[in-house]
Amino acid sequence: MSEEQQDITVINAPVYLKYNFTAGRAPSRFLAQIKKGVLTGQRCPKCAAVYAPPRGSCAACGVPTEEEVVLSDKATVQSFTIVSIPIPNNPIQPPFVVANVVADGANISFIHLLSECVNADVHIGQRVQAVWKPQEEWNFAMDNIRYFKPIDEPDVPVDKIGKLPVTGWEG
Ligand SMILES: [Zn+2]
Repeated sequence: MSEEQQDITVINAPVYLKYNFTAGRAPSRFLAQIKKGVLTGQRCPKCAAVYAPPRGSCAACGVPTEEEVVLSDKATVQSFTIVSIPIPNNPIQPPFVVANVVADGANISFIHLLSECVNADVHIGQRVQAVWKPQEEWNFAMDNIRYFKPIDEPDVPVDKIGKLPVTGWEG
């Protein structure tokens, strides 16, 4: 080994894996509804928690969920983060906001983008609503909702987040 030769400590070796995702029964029902522009969850028969998207069982009670519940596309910010670091191959340029939002009528949050907002003003309890893609682009996918945007409704107190009826928040 010559003295000029340096140790190689890092190489770029991209690895690509192709997955075929089998949604399963409960997510399939959810995805069939979201293709129609309807957000749904499933209610636990034991504790009444509404999961959205449903996984087919209640994680707390360990029982199957079957009852389908139509939810609002209005939601409340339960937590959020401002992403400042670019993610490789992600077309969304930072800074952008990713939030756990709970749809009205559901008890469990899901992750989605927030947009049309001032990032520094995003806060827990903030009311938001889905901004849908044009109907002709709807598919069996959560990204039928482009993002959630703030709406002019009073903030939800922390102890009420995830406990709103499908009819929403009166303030
Ligand atoms: Zn339960």
